[in-house]
Amino acid sequence: MERATGHEQPQETKPTLYVVATPIGNLRDVTLRALDILRHADVIAAEDTRVTSRLLNHYGIDAKKLLALHEHNEQRTAPRLIAELDAGRSVALTSDAGTPAFSDPGARLVHAVREAGYPVVPIPGANAAAAAVSASGLFDPHFMFYGFLPARPSERRKALEGLKAVPCMLVFYEAPHRVVEAVEDLAAALGDTRRIVIARELTKLFESIHECDLGGAAEWLSANPDRIKGEFVLIVEGAPPDQDAQAAQAQRTLEVLLEELPVKQAAALAAKITGARKNDLYKLALELKHGGDA
Ligand code: SAM
Repeated sequence: MERATGHEQPQETKPTLYVVATPIGNLRDVTLRALDILRHADVIAAEDTRVTSRLLNHYGIDAKKLLALHEHNEQRTAPRLIAELDAGRSVALTSDAGTPAFSDPGARLVHAVREAGYPVVPIPGANAAAAAVSASGLFDPHFMFYGFLPARPSERRKALEGLKAVPCMLVFYEAPHRVVEAVEDLAAALGDTRRIVIARELTKLFESIHECDLGGAAEWLSANPDRIKGEFVLIVEGAPPDQDAQAAQAQRTLEVLLEELPVKQAAALAAKITGARKNDLYKLALELKHGGDA
């Protein structure tokens, strides 16, 4: 097929697998480049052909060939799609919503296609996690995308124990029938005081984004049955810095510097290195040097 570049005219190229992001609700959240690719692809491999057909129909696109690639047939469908590439045809991969292979099928196909020597080109676009992070208002520059927690309560709690100390925002996908138990378990494992942002039905009619303490999240959700309908992204603040470890590190740094420098200088330098407060380190330095009676 013709490969769309960033410019207006597509250009001929080697058979390619395009990984095409589609909307997460609002059908207008599709890129012009994604539409070009879907229009020109020789084969579209869709997680659910009915869902992708809705998008294609909306934009008046007639798929040349549409087939299903989902988690249950990905392994055996990949060779079929590689055969299409071998025959000089290009393939577009879509999932039901958002970015394929992002908590969705696709990674196995991508791997197999690259192994077979064909280019894999991402066509970026909608993604529920990115949309939720962008509108969360939580400041952390780092986040960990976890995706779906285990459905079984015991496994979910175990997974959350392992996330307790992660020092950056945690991003989860959650289904409506599990969202209340999920936030209850989050509060039990991570404590009541961290902030949570509950992003529901993003880009859709009943979109809502609510921020509260983890301890109050289950109650807020349960207060109105409409609040537990639809699709969810949950974003939870990361673990607070370990104060004891920080203090111990500051003290160790100060002790080393005190072997070589006067109290004032050692405290100032230790504060610069560790980020601890200069005055606190000065007092500590006096104690260390003179047993507190200087
Ligand atoms: N590939 C998708 C993406 O790029 O975001 C995610 C697919 S995953 C199977 C589906 C989950 O994503 C939903 O259960 C929900 O947690 C989240 N999700 C998808 N669309 C959403 C939306 N419009 N609002 C909130 N969460 C959404």
